[in-house]
Amino acid sequence: MKKFKIAFVSSEVVPFAKTGGLADVAGALPKALSELGHDVLVIMPKYGVISEDKYRLNKVIERIDVQLGDWPMEGSVYEGRFPGTEIPVYFIDNKDFFNRQELYQVHGKDYEDNLERFTFFSKAVLETLKKLDTKPDIIHCNDWQTGLVPTYLKTIYSNDPFLQDVKTVFTIHNIGYQGLFPKEKFHITGLGWDQFHYERLEFHGKLSLIKGGLVYSDVITTVSKTYSREIQTEEYGHGLDGLLRHRNEDLYGVVNGIDYNVWNPMIDEHIPAKYGPDNLSGKGRCKKTLQRESGLAVKDVPLIGMITRLASQKGLDLVQEIMKDLVSMDVQFIILGTGEPVYHEFFKKTAGEYPKKISVTIGFDNALAHKIEAGSDIFLMPSKYEPCGLNQLYSLKYGTIPLVRKTGGLADTIVNYTPSNLKAGKANGFVFKEYSSKALLDTIKDTARLYPRNNLWHKLMLNGMKQDFSWHHSALEYEKLYRKAISCQ
Ligand code: ADP
Repeated sequence: MKKFKIAFVSSEVVPFAKTGGLADVAGALPKALSELGHDVLVIMPKYGVISEDKYRLNKVIERIDVQLGDWPMEGSVYEGRFPGTEIPVYFIDNKDFFNRQELYQVHGKDYEDNLERFTFFSKAVLETLKKLDTKPDIIHCNDWQTGLVPTYLKTIYSNDPFLQDVKTVFTIHNIGYQGLFPKEKFHITGLGWDQFHYERLEFHGKLSLIKGGLVYSDVITTVSKTYSREIQTEEYGHGLDGLLRHRNEDLYGVVNGIDYNVWNPMIDEHIPAKYGPDNLSGKGRCKKTLQRESGLAVKDVPLIGMITRLASQKGLDLVQEIMKDLVSMDVQFIILGTGEPVYHEFFKKTAGEYPKKISVTIGFDNALAHKIEAGSDIFLMPSKYEPCGLNQLYSLKYGTIPLVRKTGGLADTIVNYTPSNLKAGKANGFVFKEYSSKALLDTIKDTARLYPRNNLWHKLMLNGMKQDFSWHHSALEYEKLYRKAISCQ
């Protein structure tokens, strides 16, 4: 079987920089592809949070030149490796644009020069490949930050002899984030005005970077089969459903895998006791420690966990609406998240009133995320939409039963508990359909009633813990799609 040279381009990559699931994917899929024998390299920006010493980065390109509209700009490129592998990671450096602690925004407000930053990045990706003299078969782009890469290949760089026949795959991790900028800034892209057209990069009078990826890539993917169908509907398409229906034949859903070297209670260094399906006792210790450390009462009641960006997409308005009922029940709730200030205030206030029942941590804390996965009994994801969702997959591995709304990747991975689904060995969680606080509360109540039934609960836990959502399967699907992209004219 022919092996490919793949340049994987992402604005965030674990372990170097992360704000959400994209970074997890970008940190794991390249490794899985490399394990299949493909020749993979990764390109990302060199943010201020990335330590040169820790990752032993070397400058490999002293200077690349990138034109931003009328302004000639320059940058340089550093090389590192994914820890424990030989897979090269190239970091595009431009101090003005990337030497910042946050990736896209501060205090909930997007940086004003995000267009300049990611235009620079996208052009620099192509210039870097040329300088490295590395011609990939495929450039795999991700989300709006990289939407100009396929665009440039089919426009400004279309006659570049070095980049001839390079194919692109564009993955949508969340269609709600589109990279929209005012028309007045369009010139920064350096594209001709013919591109500012509704069939190309224009979106209701604005410049849309995600459209560059959707219009010009050879194959489009998104991160679950259900989401690939949902985004072709008005309800979920965020205005791009028409374009996606138009490109329906090139649009595929591939569910994300998870990295069991990172998310695995048998080897997890962040949790107080290790455990696995053959020995569950450590999970009890993880729960007690979590309760103690987070100020909750140490007792045997269902502990419901949540780790999330505090964004309305995640169904937090429903959680807000049921909070009064939740605190009157014999359950506990622990949430870790950061995002919209209205949720910060609400959850902080509630935790202040019920410190033994509700624990709230506002911030981004990877170690605590692992502790919550291990210590909770139930993991809550009542999302309005969820392209794939990773936490429900982590939860399965940690024997923490997901309680989810039936949408996107949640619908594809979580099978609702019913006695017959359990008997068939399929049930691995609790699922509700309607986006309403009543449906959520009813499901939590049903779940809490089942919690004392040890045998049943254990069976559900074990069903999930034994499932395999490793990247290997998904990498094989991407391999097929790369082949398809390469056969595109
Ligand atoms: P999204 O990409 O929409 O944020 P995903 O479920 O796909 O949602 O991925 C979220 C990832 O980010 C998971 O790995 C989750 O554990 C992590 N995460 C989200 N918020 C936090 C936080 N406040 N602290 C630590 N990890 C977080």
